[in-house]
Amino acid sequence: MKEKRSPSQLEACWKEEDMSGGRRVDAMVVILRTSGCCWVRHGGCTMCGYREASLQSVSAEGLLKQLDQALAKYKGEPFVKIYTSGSFLDDNEVPPEVRAKFFEAFADCERILFESRPEFITPESLEGVPGNVTVALGLESSDPAVLETSVHKGFTPEDIRVAGTLLKERGLMVRTYLLLKPPFMTEAMGIEDAVRSARFADPFSDEISVNPLNVQRGTYVERLWKRGEFRSPWIWSLIEVFKQLSGTVESRLMSSPSGGGAARGVHNCGECDRRALDAIEKFSFTQNPEDLEVECKCRDRWRAYMESERILGTPADLDRDLENDLMLRM
Ligand code: SF4
Ligand SMILES: [Zn+2]
Repeated sequence: MKEKRSPSQLEACWKEEDMSGGRRVDAMVVILRTSGCCWVRHGGCTMCGYREASLQSVSAEGLLKQLDQALAKYKGEPFVKIYTSGSFLDDNEVPPEVRAKFFEAFADCERILFESRPEFITPESLEGVPGNVTVALGLESSDPAVLETSVHKGFTPEDIRVAGTLLKERGLMVRTYLLLKPPFMTEAMGIEDAVRSARFADPFSDEISVNPLNVQRGTYVERLWKRGEFRSPWIWSLIEVFKQLSGTVESRLMSSPSGGGAARGVHNCGECDRRALDAIEKFSFTQNPEDLEVECKCRDRWRAYMESERILGTPADLDRDLENDLMLRM
């Protein structure tokens, strides 16, 4: 039986490291329970499993109780990230008076980060937002057709550009998320799309976080994945994106892949996954492309995989097809 979740209980809270003011610092991550992303009611994005994390309704009182729980765990970390599985600036999800309490509680923090869809980023909604805020924007791809058909994002890249520019004009920081390898793309198309999208986002971003697609439960992408029509990207592809971008954009490049090394997440051969993910983590802090140098025999397999995809003209999971073929022949 599914555990009954209280609307006044934090979803999760943990500590990690991130950057602030050019230094590596401790960060507290707070995941709030809210009513969830408004876009889920329109079907949501094809890769997003956040509907699982949202409740029907969470009152202002419930959210303030969650703030108290977060404060009880707060040990003065310079960076606090507040995630809601939706948009912190959506009044229906987080009422303005609750937002004000959060800003007040973490006023002395060097940096606060939250996420928002662009439609909630307006001159009015930014009025009470303090200068220590970074807004994370889920651009995913700068290709309007990819956003519309493959991601089903419900806004355009231009909407994100306008929102990002407004945030910068207000003196706030912007972290832009890109999705590496949305569905229906080959590995090579995914790399090209992420590189192009980063160049699009660079003028209005301080940081660009590349998120390789991680297959989440109950999503459209999971259905494709189960049918062998999607393979999560190779870690080599993520490394390739950073190698192509390094030194050519102003924004800090970063990635902290969820599900890295697992079949549902970004992965290589299994033997080198940890090393490759560590290299990416290191690069996310140092920005030194030399930190991306990793060796493994499967690098050739990745190249051959991309070549096969090109010849066959398919983004299907070729590894899995090959395994199935071998099974049938056995
Ligand atoms: S990816 Fe973001 S915008 Fe899309 S459904 Fe999930 S929370 Fe909403
Ligand atoms: Zn390997």
